[in-house]
Amino acid sequence: MTLRIENHQLVGELVSHRSTPNHGGIMAPSYLILHYTAGRSVEGSVESLCTRKPRGNASAHVVLGREGQIVQLAPFNVVTWHAGVSQWAGLMGLNSHSIGIEMDNAGLLKKVGKQYQAWFGKVYPEDEVTLAAHRNGGPVSPWHAYSEAQIERAIELAELLVEHYDLQDVLGHEDIAPGRKIDPGPAFPLGAVRSRVLGREQDEAARYVVTARSLNIRKGPDASFEAVAAALKIGTEVLLLEARDRWSLVEVVADPEIEGWVSNAYIAASGGGDSSVSPRSAVTGPASTNPGTAPVSRKNGGKGKKARRHAQ
Ligand SMILES: [Zn+2]
Repeated sequence: MTLRIENHQLVGELVSHRSTPNHGGIMAPSYLILHYTAGRSVEGSVESLCTRKPRGNASAHVVLGREGQIVQLAPFNVVTWHAGVSQWAGLMGLNSHSIGIEMDNAGLLKKVGKQYQAWFGKVYPEDEVTLAAHRNGGPVSPWHAYSEAQIERAIELAELLVEHYDLQDVLGHEDIAPGRKIDPGPAFPLGAVRSRVLGREQDEAARYVVTARSLNIRKGPDASFEAVAAALKIGTEVLLLEARDRWSLVEVVADPEIEGWVSNAYIAASGGGDSSVSPRSAVTGPASTNPGTAPVSRKNGGKGKKARRHAQ
C-alpha cells in the first residue's frame, strides 16, 4: 500500500479520485487538519462533499474510509472548504493554509436503551464504541471508534503529506475551532499520531533535571491538582513538553508513561540537552524569589540548605 504524490494527486493502492466543485484557488499548505465526517459511509460523504448546495458548501482534499481506502476530491495545492472559521498560530481561516482529511466516522453517539446511535439513526455495536471525555471539555460520552486500518492509513498519509509539503503541524478541527468543533474527537489518537508523524517532539524537547529532593508531578499546572505518579526524586531527568509561567508539562525520560506538571522552581536545564530555554528564567524572573532554590544554596555547594523535602 505504498502511497506517493504526483502533481499534487495521490497515487497508490486503494486510492481513487473524484473532483469536487467546492474549492478555491491555489495555495501552499502549511498544516494538515484531521476531521471526522459524522456520516454514514465514505460514499455518502464523498457525494455530499462533491455537491453544490444553495448554502453551506463543504469539501476536503481526501475522504479516508474504514478499510483504508482514500478518495481524493481536489489537488493538495488547491483550497478546499473543511476548516470554516478557524485560527492557529496567528493564522485566521485555515482553509487557505491547510490540507483537510475527512475520516469516515459517525462521531459523537448517543445511548438509546442499550444501544449506541448516531445522529442519523444508525446503531453501532458496543465494540465499535469508545467511551471518553473530549479534551476540550464535556462529560464522558460514546464516540464511534476508528478502525485500525483507518488509523494506520491516516498515519501513512500524514507522513507522506508532512514530508512532501514540509507541513508544520498535524492538527484536529477541534484544535483550530475549539468550542465550535469536536472532531476528530477522543476516539482518534491524535496526540500519538501527531508525535509519530512529526517525529520531533522528543528530539526537540529540552532536558531538565529535578532539583528538589522530592518533586510532585501533577495532573494540572497548579498545586491543587492531584499527583499522577510517585514524587520525582532529585536528579530525575525529564523532557520539557510545554512551559508555562510557573509550571511545565514534562515527561520522565526513564519512564515516558509518566507525564505531568511540575513547578518550574524545582527543575533546571540539564547539560546534555538544549538548555537555551529555561522556563524559570524565561518567564518568572530570577530563581532567588523561590524558597527552595535560593542562590545562596548553590554558593555553598548545596551544603547550607537542603532542597525542600516535598516541593509543591
Ligand atoms: Zn471537521
